Amino acid sequence: MKTLITGGGGLVGSAMKSELKLTREFCDLTDRKQTESLFKTIKPEGVIHCAGKVGGIGGNSNYKGEYFYDNLLINTNVIEASRKAGAKRLVAFLSTCVFPDKVTYPLTIDQIHLGEPHESNYPYAYAKRMADVQIRAYREQYGLNYTSIIPSNIYGPNDNFSLEHGHVMPMLIHKLYLANQNKTDFIVWGSGKPLREFIYSKDVAHLAEWTLENYKGTDPLIFSEDEEISIKDIVDILVKEFSFKGRVIFDESKPDGQFKKPSDNSKIKELYPQFEYTPLEVGIKETINWFIENYETARK
Ligand code: GDP
Repeated sequence: MKTLITGGGGLVGSAMKSELKLTREFCDLTDRKQTESLFKTIKPEGVIHCAGKVGGIGGNSNYKGEYFYDNLLINTNVIEASRKAGAKRLVAFLSTCVFPDKVTYPLTIDQIHLGEPHESNYPYAYAKRMADVQIRAYREQYGLNYTSIIPSNIYGPNDNFSLEHGHVMPMLIHKLYLANQNKTDFIVWGSGKPLREFIYSKDVAHLAEWTLENYKGTDPLIFSEDEEISIKDIVDILVKEFSFKGRVIFDESKPDGQFKKPSDNSKIKELYPQFEYTPLEVGIKETINWFIENYETARK
């Protein structure tokens, strides 16, 4: 299938096999005309939509307006442009943060729209929820076999290692790299107690491609690992990997965000039981090595 990847230079897009990758330099997806005209020229049969304005807890609190506006436009334009260009299949990325804050665990797809998202990322979450609504509406009106996927916390090479608005894994890797070099303290945000499920970018890329080719269902698919791990345990793994000997400080003036968000991955496990997920330690090692080797050019 001729597959176009949006966000082709990003964390997950860069790990995909298709060579038809859109990057932000090439097309401004918030611009409807530009997006539609490009999609009509390319005429993709399939689209994997990874592009978005994303960040961690810092980015989500500092750029609320931008995260809402840009993501709403990007999703709306990409899904509509795919339809107009005749794409038969589309897989769009949501995130486990789309779920309501007050929810029954594990997160299951029937709960997506049942209440307010967590206050730490509601603009992003609401914008992403609308992609789910748009896909459902397009399926019902136009009969399009479009779907969405919901990954837990993704990490890996080509992430954004920004010290202000990155996600926890790339930010901690970058901070530790600097603390090690400058012999300074390693500052972790929050209490270290929140729990997260991490999944390696290459696994997510493979599962998204698999979904595009094989998934006939309509419900969003949740991609996550079975294990939840605390931020403190992630810190311990990173400290060991870097052989860091300095002080680790938990800055509790910074937010913890949602305490936990375990998700129900039973559907993808049932559909694709043979897939082997990358162990966390292996993925973390590869990510650290990538960051060190690409320090000059990495997004940060
Ligand atoms: P979330 O999973 O959507 O909340 O987003 P993040 O990837 O930003 O993870 C946030 C969790 O990691 C929160 O519990 C933070 O308190 C904790 N954390 C610890 N240190 C850092 C850090 O340096 N950056 C970020 N983004 N989060 C951190």
